[in-house]
Amino acid sequence: MINSSTENCYYTKQNCDRCGNQLTVRKVSWFTDDILCIVCVKKEQVMREELDPDEEQKLKGCGYLPD
Ligand SMILES: [Zn+2]
Repeated sequence: MINSSTENCYYTKQNCDRCGNQLTVRKVSWFTDDILCIVCVKKEQVMREELDPDEEQKLKGCGYLPD
């Protein structure tokens, strides 16, 4: 059963949690519970590419963005 607030608003949310852009594509952040637009998803992908795979896995859902 899906019971988190993120799941509940996932399909109804209109704007990106991070930058406020309208959501045309929505994805949950790798690092936080934020629902992101494609621009922010791409920024996270760049961040993730700079991490080594072990570090990337450890940071999944950590609640903050790595520097
Ligand atoms: Zn965004």
